[in-house]
Amino acid sequence: MIRQQAFIGKNQMLKGGLHCHTTRSDGALSPEQIMNVYKDLGYDFLAITDHRKYNLTNYAPEIGLTIIPGMEYNNAPRRSIADGGRCFHTLCLGPLKENGNGFEQDQECIPCPADNQEEYQPYLYEIHEKNNITVVNHPVYSKIPPSYFEKLRGNFAMEIYNADSALHNMDTDAQYWDEILGKGIKIYGIASDDAHSIHLCGSGWVMVNSENNVDSILKALFKGAFYSSCGPEIYDFYVKDNVAVIDCSPASKIRLHSDKHVTRIHHSEDNNLTHAEFELNTVEESYDYVRISVVDANEKIAWTNPIFLK
Ligand SMILES: [Zn+2]
Ligand SMILES: [Zn+2]
Repeated sequence: MIRQQAFIGKNQMLKGGLHCHTTRSDGALSPEQIMNVYKDLGYDFLAITDHRKYNLTNYAPEIGLTIIPGMEYNNAPRRSIADGGRCFHTLCLGPLKENGNGFEQDQECIPCPADNQEEYQPYLYEIHEKNNITVVNHPVYSKIPPSYFEKLRGNFAMEIYNADSALHNMDTDAQYWDEILGKGIKIYGIASDDAHSIHLCGSGWVMVNSENNVDSILKALFKGAFYSSCGPEIYDFYVKDNVAVIDCSPASKIRLHSDKHVTRIHHSEDNNLTHAEFELNTVEESYDYVRISVVDANEKIAWTNPIFLK
């Protein structure tokens, strides 16, 4: 049996936000205000990821929300996008200062002059050398299909849902994820708010199987021990005897995705699917990986991370 990492061991699923902005850059709420908003939404942890301005501070320790140190970094293409320049935005998430974070509080970075992934990579390595892990942000908004970011090394995840992009009517149902997974690149999927104001807070989040401290959460994220959601809950996901099995909160649709195969769907008109099984690796088909998405009665989606079978 192969069980997806989020559901191994004693589950303590923490709800977290990995991407938001405050008055430290172009957000509407102060760090204290946004922390209180997320605490009221039931979050256990939050990364305050202002544009190119690093944060290590817990601005409201009394409310008991764990703060993951972080920032959103980006390039400034020398050429216009029409002329071949590409837009790269990167979430940086790191440990506490005393555990080796190479960034300083309030450290400001200038946008790097990189037009493409080859030119952007050295700047990504600099972030990794500071003990931060990285995420490819909003590839749809950035207009970077996989062929424009697939050579980037060291990103443990990509955003598959970004509420700010959804607000601007962009397709956010994990577009591009299967295309890049299908190329053998093991990358996890993250749902985020990218909240610049209060109305996006609580739109998309991660549920992480971890103890509630910065180091444990970062380790769990890095090994894919989480799932992403805009609403539904997922309780288990595993492959046993060539059958993929999922348990979740009541759903109208449960879908099995894999790049080289058609998406297969279980439907319920009563919106009460809580379990589904998909047979894999029949004589005709052999799966490299499988992942599941769950859609509820309100069309809200949750996404498992993949189980890699090869
Ligand atoms: Zn961005
Ligand atoms: Zn952002």
